[in-house]
Amino acid sequence: MPELMRGKRGLIMGVANDRSLAWGIAQALSREGAEIAFSFQGEALEKRVRPLAASLGADFLIECNVSDTASLDACFATLAERWPRIDFLVHAIGFSDKNELRGRYVDTTPQNFAQTMDISVYSFTACAQRALPLMPEGGSMLTLTYYGAEKVIPHYNVMGVAKAALETSVKYLAMDLGPQNVRVNAISAGPIKTLAASGIGDFRYILKWNEYNSPLRRNVTIEDVGGAGVYLLSDLASGVTGEIHHVDAGYNVIGMKAEDAPDI
Ligand code: NAD
Repeated sequence: MPELMRGKRGLIMGVANDRSLAWGIAQALSREGAEIAFSFQGEALEKRVRPLAASLGADFLIECNVSDTASLDACFATLAERWPRIDFLVHAIGFSDKNELRGRYVDTTPQNFAQTMDISVYSFTACAQRALPLMPEGGSMLTLTYYGAEKVIPHYNVMGVAKAALETSVKYLAMDLGPQNVRVNAISAGPIKTLAASGIGDFRYILKWNEYNSPLRRNVTIEDVGGAGVYLLSDLASGVTGEIHHVDAGYNVIGMKAEDAPDI
């Protein structure tokens, strides 16, 4: 079978370690022949990301803190210097103060509200602005979201509000960039144990609840997310934009607890 990403290259932002959703996407894209540049946040993470990138034959790593405009500008300038044209952008970045990912949403502070929105929502638009000139013949952009944008999930709090805004940004970006044949989509992934997820209160309970109640009666993996990433970033999804694609073992369609679900 021909490789779906042969001849395509792009930037993946948000690999922290080998459990990151971005790493599941990177592995799947690489298997399909993509050439990948990685951005990492700070020196500590560079030590983790560099060997992972090397295992895929990639040596193009760029530092980027998305909450710093100068860092964002420098990242995309470095990318453009070596690769004046890219085909895809993966944004797998989110952050909120973990003290506010427990308890009640109503207690959110203005400082953390603004920071969560900046890093988890605006940064996707900021990256899209900078990636667009590198996609003169079209391309595909992808971000990661969660069901907590649609329905209330205990402890997800301000992150749920941020994901709702991120999902709406996907739709506005899709409309703005569509005339240039740039597609913009999101994967709404089910809960997966990662560094970022470990900040969410009672995450173990969320994992069990999803495992017992999803139509597939299991949790999703970063490989499941990677497969959907290949679809949305390759020409297989050439007619798909503005979409929030659930990769959640079907959890979003259920209306009630499964009758066969054990107690947690
Ligand atoms: P992760 O901890 O592996 O990745 C989060 C990434 O965000 C890290 O690489 C971190 O460096 C990066 N980041 C945070 N602040 C940044 C900043 N200022 N500048 C640059 N990078 C920054 O966790 P993950 O779960 O793989 O998260 C990736 C995305 O997937 C997030 O948007 C998350 O909300 C989303 N998501 C996760 C789950 C889940 O259950 N794990 C489910 C649905 C969606």
